Amino acid sequence: MAANPQAVAQAVPAVKLLINGKLVESKTTEWKDVVNPATQEVLARVPFATADEIEAAIAGAAAAYKTWRHTAVGARMRIFLKLQELIRRDMKKIAACLTAEQGKTLADAEGDVFRGLEVVEHACSVGSVQMGEHLEQVAGGVDVYAIRQSLGVCAGITPFNFPAMIPLWMFPMAIVCGNTFVLKPSEQDPMTPMLLAELALEAGVPPGVLNVIHGGKQSVDALCTHPEIRAVSFVGSTHVGTHVYNLASTHGKRAQCMMGAKNHAVVLPDAHKEQSLNALIGAGFGAAGQRCMAISVAVLVGKAAEWLPDLVAKSKTLKVSGGTEPGADLGPLISKSAHARVKSLIEIGVKEGAILELDGRGIQVPGYPDGNFVGPTVFSGVKTSMTVYKEEIFGPVLCVMSVDTLDEAIALVNANPMGNGTGVFTQSGAAARKFQYEIDVGQVGINVPIPVPVPYFSFTGSRGSKLGDLGPYGKQAMQFFTQVKTVTARWFDDATTTGGIHTTISLK
Ligand code: NAD
Repeated sequence: MAANPQAVAQAVPAVKLLINGKLVESKTTEWKDVVNPATQEVLARVPFATADEIEAAIAGAAAAYKTWRHTAVGARMRIFLKLQELIRRDMKKIAACLTAEQGKTLADAEGDVFRGLEVVEHACSVGSVQMGEHLEQVAGGVDVYAIRQSLGVCAGITPFNFPAMIPLWMFPMAIVCGNTFVLKPSEQDPMTPMLLAELALEAGVPPGVLNVIHGGKQSVDALCTHPEIRAVSFVGSTHVGTHVYNLASTHGKRAQCMMGAKNHAVVLPDAHKEQSLNALIGAGFGAAGQRCMAISVAVLVGKAAEWLPDLVAKSKTLKVSGGTEPGADLGPLISKSAHARVKSLIEIGVKEGAILELDGRGIQVPGYPDGNFVGPTVFSGVKTSMTVYKEEIFGPVLCVMSVDTLDEAIALVNANPMGNGTGVFTQSGAAARKFQYEIDVGQVGINVPIPVPVPYFSFTGSRGSKLGDLGPYGKQAMQFFTQVKTVTARWFDDATTTGGIHTTISLK
């Protein structure tokens, strides 16, 4: 919380709530500073919405649903066609805001926006995606069809690490399917989601169809328990996601929770060395390791273990700086507490006997003396019992392990409690096929380090990385945000005789 909320109030803008089509200033007394993680400049202050404000947002969404659900599919899609155009128009502005409040490089911020934009583009074709099914003549003159109808008011809760992409995973598909929506973005970087919400209004999303509230546990719990909310989509840590899933499910809501990760890349000795090492380093240290799909464990198989010195040497070449600096490869961590946590995990790694090949603590970044920087850090000799292996570090720390065979590597990955993303690097189709077949992880890359699927597919996850069976975006998001109604219909023509009364369940 801000030390002196009134003083800060005069100095920096307040992030607004979006309630019923209006951007409103919260009446709360609880505020948090939104801080540039490279400079510690306070960019804004974000409110923790009051119970009345949360209620007003949900009530606005419920009222808007009464008309929005009847809007023609084409009219809904055209709003998202307009939204994709507006996001393209404002790409640089959104990316600049994202870099300022989140810290990732400008190029990576544009990637964040672009991966969300792809979901908006897909929402523009929901007419083909939301089609039902129809089978005629299941009995004499009887047809059956299944219709996918909207649910009502849906909610989304998003993490700090993709403040554009992940809100865009949620509200476009929910709304285009005929629902109304309440978004609760991360309180650490709420300005980017607000830019997107403002663009949604400009694109023609009617008042109340999209609402945004800010806050933490209180607002999340309110969304998970409110009788008006039908479905909750969550992306964030496993700890909070498990809480959200349990709370929302107990209150009768659909819930999908995409959660934490520990992503392994398995490198076989026949892999293309340069390409594989570049991929490991890009996916391990990009966005300062703050991606749910970041590679955090490199498993070098057999003679690939000999590549460790080159991996370390290449890792040293990355430029750590403020995200706006030309040529920056990675920026700061999101907050002072994340910075302290990552450094302490590195310390624990050393104490527990991992070999610190490259230490990113204490890095000096010219021009940014106060940034939350940790440079690329590489541990070798990592064991599964070590904290650096067991915890999701969420920083630029790559743990290197060595095994003798592909079978051992697969067993290692499958024994980890998390199952978000993984990759195999090889030139052998047979090895890649075996890996893809036997691995129990949601997203698999074959010579692709960050295999986030495009939105014609859906994001997924296995074991500790996901709760709920349907994933965000793509066809599964449409399924999550709609419910199926089946209709069994018989139309009599004038010549039909009824055949009398029958008292069984069979269709006659
Ligand atoms: P987080 O779980 O701390 O926060 C996520 C959301 O939950 C935020 O909106 C936050 O305000 C809210 N929240 C925080 N504490 C809460 C509590 N006690 N009760 C109720 N709500 C609470 O996650 P984060 O630190 O913002 O994001 C990083 C995490 O998200 C990592 O674990 C990462 O792997 C995960 N993530 C997963 C995916 C995926 O698709 N699997 C994608 C991105 C991020």
